Amino acid sequence: MTGITKDHPRYESLITREKIVEGVNMGITSKQGLVAQGRGEAFDYILGEKTIESAAIAERAAVAYILLAKNPIISVNGNTGALVPDQLVSLADITGARLEVNLFHRSDARVHKITEHLKAHGAGVVLGGKGDKRLDLSHDRAIVDEEGIFSADVVLVPLEDGDRCQKLVEMGKTVITIDLNPLSRTSLTSTVTIVDNVTRALNNMIQFTKDMKGGSKDSLQAVIDAYDNDRVISDALYSMQEHLKNKAEEKGITWI
Ligand code: ATP
Ligand code: MG
Repeated sequence: MTGITKDHPRYESLITREKIVEGVNMGITSKQGLVAQGRGEAFDYILGEKTIESAAIAERAAVAYILLAKNPIISVNGNTGALVPDQLVSLADITGARLEVNLFHRSDARVHKITEHLKAHGAGVVLGGKGDKRLDLSHDRAIVDEEGIFSADVVLVPLEDGDRCQKLVEMGKTVITIDLNPLSRTSLTSTVTIVDNVTRALNNMIQFTKDMKGGSKDSLQAVIDAYDNDRVISDALYSMQEHLKNKAEEKGITWI
C-alpha cells in the first residue's frame, strides 16, 4: 500500500481505493470493478461520505427482512470480496445467511480465489462454485447455485447489476441492494435500496442485527411494514442536492 496517513482529509476513500487495487492484484476484483468503484466514489462525494438517516432506515428494514427469511443469501462479487470480507463473514454469521460468490465477469479461477479469500477471513460454507442453475439472462451473473440464490427468498446483493436485480425481483424474491447511485436500474428495481457505501452499510447492518436480533417476529415485521422504499430513494436524491448546495455555499458559490 502507498503511504496514506490518517490525517489525510480523504483517508477513508483512499484506503478503500487501495483495497480495490489490491483486490485486482490478488485476482479477486476485475479491472471493470475499478471503474465501478470510481463511479461509486463520485456518488459518495456528492452524498457527503456519510450514512444518511434514510439509508439507516433502509439498513434496518434490510436486517428485518434477512432475520425473518427462510433462506437468506448474501451475494459476493469481486468488489465486495476485496473491500469488506470480514464484514460479509460477520453479517452472515450473526444473521444465519449464507454467502454465495456470483460474478459478472465469471471465471472458475476467480470464483475459487474469492471463496478461498472469504474462508481465510473466517467463512464456513461458501456457495457459488457449483453454478448448477441459470437465471434467464444473457451474461454470467445468470449462473447461480440451486440451493443458494436460485431458491433464496431474500437476497442481499451489494453492488448488483440492474438486469439481474430485475430478474430476481420477477422471480418473487426480496432483493436488498447497496448502491450509491439512487437512480441506477438496480436502485430503482430493488425491494430495499440502501444508498450508502458498502463499507459503511455492512458495519451498520452488523450493529443493527445485534440490536434487533432479540426482538419478536412481530416487531421485525413492523419494521418491514413501516418501510417505504420510494421515500428512501427520494430522500437520497434530496440529501445529495442539499449536500452540494451546502458545500457550494461554504465555498462562497451562490446556489441558483
Ligand atoms: P445498473 O446496472 O443498476 O443500471 P450501472 O450499470 O450504472 O447500474 P454497475 O457498473 O452495474 O452500474 O454497478 C456499479 C454500481 O455500484 C454503481 O451504481 C456504483 O455507484 C455502485 N458502487 C460502486 N462502488 C460502491 C461502493 N463502494 N458502495 C456502494 N455502491 C458502490
Ligand atoms: Mg450495470
